[in-house]
Amino acid sequence: MSYNDIDKKLLDTLIDPEDLYQNAPCGYLSFLPDGTIIKVNKTLANWLGYAYDEILYKKKFTDLITKGGALHFEMFFRPLISANGLVNQLSYDIIKKDKGTFPVFLSAVASKTTEGRVQAINATLYDVRERKMYEQELLLAKEKADAERKRFEFLSDFNPEIIWTANSNGDIDYVNKRYYQYFNTLQFSTKEALLKVYPRDRLKLLRIWINSIQTGSTFTVEIRLENHSGAYEWHLIKAAVYMEENGTAARWIGSCTNIDAQVLSIQKRDEFINIASHELKTPITSLKAYNQILQRMSLPSAANSFLSRANTSLNSLQFLVSTLLDVSKIDSGQLSLNLSSFSMKEVVEEAVELLSTSYPTHTVIKNMDLHNLYLVYADRQRIMQVIINLISNAIKYSPNADQVEVSLIRSENEKLIKFEVRDYGAGIPEDKLEQIFEKYYRVSDTKNNNKATGLGLGLYIIHNIIKQHQSRIFVSSTLNKGSCFYFSLPASS
Ligand code: ADP
Repeated sequence: MSYNDIDKKLLDTLIDPEDLYQNAPCGYLSFLPDGTIIKVNKTLANWLGYAYDEILYKKKFTDLITKGGALHFEMFFRPLISANGLVNQLSYDIIKKDKGTFPVFLSAVASKTTEGRVQAINATLYDVRERKMYEQELLLAKEKADAERKRFEFLSDFNPEIIWTANSNGDIDYVNKRYYQYFNTLQFSTKEALLKVYPRDRLKLLRIWINSIQTGSTFTVEIRLENHSGAYEWHLIKAAVYMEENGTAARWIGSCTNIDAQVLSIQKRDEFINIASHELKTPITSLKAYNQILQRMSLPSAANSFLSRANTSLNSLQFLVSTLLDVSKIDSGQLSLNLSSFSMKEVVEEAVELLSTSYPTHTVIKNMDLHNLYLVYADRQRIMQVIINLISNAIKYSPNADQVEVSLIRSENEKLIKFEVRDYGAGIPEDKLEQIFEKYYRVSDTKNNNKATGLGLGLYIIHNIIKQHQSRIFVSSTLNKGSCFYFSLPASS
């Protein structure tokens, strides 16, 4: 098939190069080596606001660009185009007929004679107004981010704690001034920081950190850090995660608070309690024994009454010492269990019976449609201690309500027996619910609590007893309405 065979009509329907040139989404411009414009497409003429006869052979390219651009044209454009025959993506501001300007990227190729002389230049101009706008916006956003960063750094340098941030890989990428002071160093790195952690605390920290990376959860951990004189000091590390929208961990911001003085003072207090409770145990046991001997003797009735009062005081003292001894056992990991199968219903009934004499002010309502034969396999004495503690707390912290409810429920699959105690008393503020199980912790800001005395050890002990049984004590509470404590034990077959 030859050119002549092609239907002229078909050719007319195809893309017209002239139309493409005139209406392209970019501007085309041809000018002589001295800059005189000899050809321009419709797109560019429209952008400029000139009619063809106002611009062709009347304007030079340098008339269309700002003074700075004209200087650039003379110093760079001309030498470059003569040497290389082309220029790429030069940035100019173009002046319109109405004197307004707009930014363009200009690429050009030289049209050369056979001898290699430049006879004309063909330029393509891209309107980059939108692009410049984005660039401007980006610049503004960057300036804002820089200002925010400076503000954050100023605040964190002001802080007496070590403040740090880490990226999604867990690599530390910022530390405040306090870090450099504490470790007496000029640089920081994740590896260096990790080496400053007491070797036995490293695994603990890494575990909690990896878990945080995987789950995006915030964490708090106590570890020892080596100071600049080589001594290890206790620090409380707190870290919060900023999450990306897609749910992956984005970055961490954390603090290290030096809690060495507090930890040491608690350790000293624990040591004292440990020694004192052990030392008190023997004399109390002898006193009780002498009391028992005296009780068996025929004494005047006044002496018997004093003896009975002495015995009550001794019982309270013995209870106090056994509480302190329990704490020592828990802290040294020596809380052992004496396991057997027993009826929970019997234990609860015994506990309620025992408390009814100590707390005649309250009625304990029992919801226990449970058969006596439903047994649990646990430490009977310890579970009794837990139940007594929970019921007496319920009574102690509800002085204005005269009723406490205890329930025993068997789970539907019959695998668990749940004990629950509910009161209608002071309640516990929501933000304190986690802390009440901590050693020595007492809620101090509720009206009713101020009157009730205690050491803040009961829940700590019984929480550990239940933990030792591979279970957990749960609590739900509403301030001034009451609380509900419960735990479950596996039913024994
Ligand atoms: P203690 O009773 O000796 O203070 P506990 O460890 O038994 O110590 O309890 C810790 C704290 O928890 C109490 O001081 C009290 O503030 C709060 N608490 C415990 N049980 C209750 C309850 N049933 N209602 C309200 N507050 C309670």
